[in-house]
Amino acid sequence: MKIISTTLIMFTAISAFAQTQVTKDKKPDLKDNFKYQTEQFADAKILRYQVPGFEALTLKQKELIYYLSQAALCGRDITYDQNYKSNLLIRTTLEAIYREYMGDRKSADFKKFMVYLKRVWFCNGIHHHYSTDKFLPEFSAAYFATLINSIPAKSLPLKKGESSGQFIAEMSPLLFDPGVAPKRVSLDPATDLVLSSASNFYEGVSQKEAEEFYAKMKSEVKQGSRDTLIAFGLNSKLVKENGRIVEKVYKIGGHYGEAIGQIVRWLEKALTVTETPGQNEALKKLIAYYKSGDLVIWDEYNIAWVKDLNSLVDFVNGFIEVYGDPMAMKGSWESIVNFKDVEATKRTETLSSNAQYFEDNSPVDPGFKKKTVKGVTAKVITVAQLGGESDPTTPIGINLPNANWIRKEYGSKSVTMDNITNAYDQAAKGNGFLQEFACSKEEVDRAEKYGHLAGNLTTDLHECLGHGSGQLNPGVGADALKNYHSTIEESRADLFALYYIMDPEMVKLGLVPGDEVGKAEYDSYIRNGLMTQLVRIYPGKTIEESHMRDRALIARWVFEKGEKQKVIEKVIRNGKVYFTINDYQALRKEFGELLKIIQRITSEGDYEAAKKLVEAYAVQVDPVLHKEVLERYAKLNIAPYTGFINPEYTLVKNGEVVTDVTISYPDDFTAQMLKYSKKYSFLPVR
Ligand code: ZN
Repeated sequence: MKIISTTLIMFTAISAFAQTQVTKDKKPDLKDNFKYQTEQFADAKILRYQVPGFEALTLKQKELIYYLSQAALCGRDITYDQNYKSNLLIRTTLEAIYREYMGDRKSADFKKFMVYLKRVWFCNGIHHHYSTDKFLPEFSAAYFATLINSIPAKSLPLKKGESSGQFIAEMSPLLFDPGVAPKRVSLDPATDLVLSSASNFYEGVSQKEAEEFYAKMKSEVKQGSRDTLIAFGLNSKLVKENGRIVEKVYKIGGHYGEAIGQIVRWLEKALTVTETPGQNEALKKLIAYYKSGDLVIWDEYNIAWVKDLNSLVDFVNGFIEVYGDPMAMKGSWESIVNFKDVEATKRTETLSSNAQYFEDNSPVDPGFKKKTVKGVTAKVITVAQLGGESDPTTPIGINLPNANWIRKEYGSKSVTMDNITNAYDQAAKGNGFLQEFACSKEEVDRAEKYGHLAGNLTTDLHECLGHGSGQLNPGVGADALKNYHSTIEESRADLFALYYIMDPEMVKLGLVPGDEVGKAEYDSYIRNGLMTQLVRIYPGKTIEESHMRDRALIARWVFEKGEKQKVIEKVIRNGKVYFTINDYQALRKEFGELLKIIQRITSEGDYEAAKKLVEAYAVQVDPVLHKEVLERYAKLNIAPYTGFINPEYTLVKNGEVVTDVTISYPDDFTAQMLKYSKKYSFLPVR
């Protein structure tokens, strides 16, 4: 599971309290005058992030990061192809135009072309990374034809014997027709989820056929054996061939074999410089899994990976999150290379070592609690490289593995990405967002003082305790809630965090100086869930993305619950809407009540109840409030979405001997994307 920033963009300053953990003479290579934001286009901005602490790593650790980061880049094209089957063709075409077009590159049309190309890079395809709606170019189809006709045909990915004219006719609907592949992930229960989604996990297969295929597969494994626990369908595409439905497994020699082979090549180099036997074992399992496509080995890898707690360098690499599949079965490829921030990790260690207290004292029905919470490990990490689905847009926290039975038996690893949240906060300084939407000066001051800490702690609680808490009833599968699974699961983790950030125990544990931190989080959560997250929605659209649905669900449910008592009050001042909290303790109780409800739904796999809750609270948008929020936001000229430029690593060699790995921070998004496309394209475009 991953957590995505929405609240963090609104903090305009970093509190002195939080900063002691971040900068206190621990990271001499954290630069002060670092330029975080490099550019802004459409609804996106591009930031850089620093990798403090890299210089202090040993040569072997740096080398390990280098190999793992190369592996992370080799899977880039898989993400494009998984998102939509024509994405690689489109990207290759646009990049050819970028390189070859000799006409007027300063014209308004060409600028619009550039915005479109950057959006495609930003989203790993032609669908918005967040809303999953197809976005259209702002230049015309006629201009596109002009561009194609004015570059050499040999630079285009033409089919054999295809003319430029035929190529234009083939490509135009893909780019310009809003009816072609309108949505990457459809969650509309009234439609066939598979057929109405453009994501490339199924081909020629209906939702019903896919459901039947996997129901049959599950019924055929030996009951009671461990094989019943594997994540069926996670690493494959389901296609109909000659009337027969078959799985195309992602592996060397199989689907995506060319890219996976490159990933493995770098993982094998990484194997020569591992830090610990545990890390070595995990890497070997991962390689074996990529070679065989065997999901039993994938589970073995995850177990080995969870057990490896002694390595400083760590990595995520594989087909993991299922948000991109409307059926929540198929994993999108991603990689995140990182190393532990030892100092900041003390905060999450305090949380995880008290995991049993949090589980025992939660407001959830005792029958749905874990009797013993095992191995909840949490750490704060410094990201060194983003890849696949996590690049250029990245989560700010993750909790893996996703398999519930592994989490229950072996625990999970939970991480907070401190250098990423730091980049967000630094880039947001003084952008005016908070001043516009907070109801009072008191709220602004509280956010400025405690916002960074509140945000990080909420992420920690969400990731290392929230997702790991509770248990499913026997016989309830992880996919019981289907298209509502992700929203309910994220709500569960958020509610756990919200309930506990205001717990007196947090003060006792020395994690917060008082309840002002919890108040800062409640302020921002309610403001975001009821109002400000709407800046990410286009007029007329509903809320789609799981984390946004989760936040709307919670904020609206508690608002309605305490409406009479004015626990949260809607204030209208100078014609502007604000939401302010009058009773923080009453609000906390409501979070607890909703957590109890959501945990029951999860534990029992109650699809109907999940559907009712999500459809009632999480999806619709009040058009009047939406319009107002968009207008107020537009005046601030802030891009709501953020992507990152990765640092670059260079191997320094003396003959065949590696003597150093250096790091640099490029500041040109276009150059990095072009470089990646040139160096790390391993899949056929057609
Ligand atoms: Zn989550």
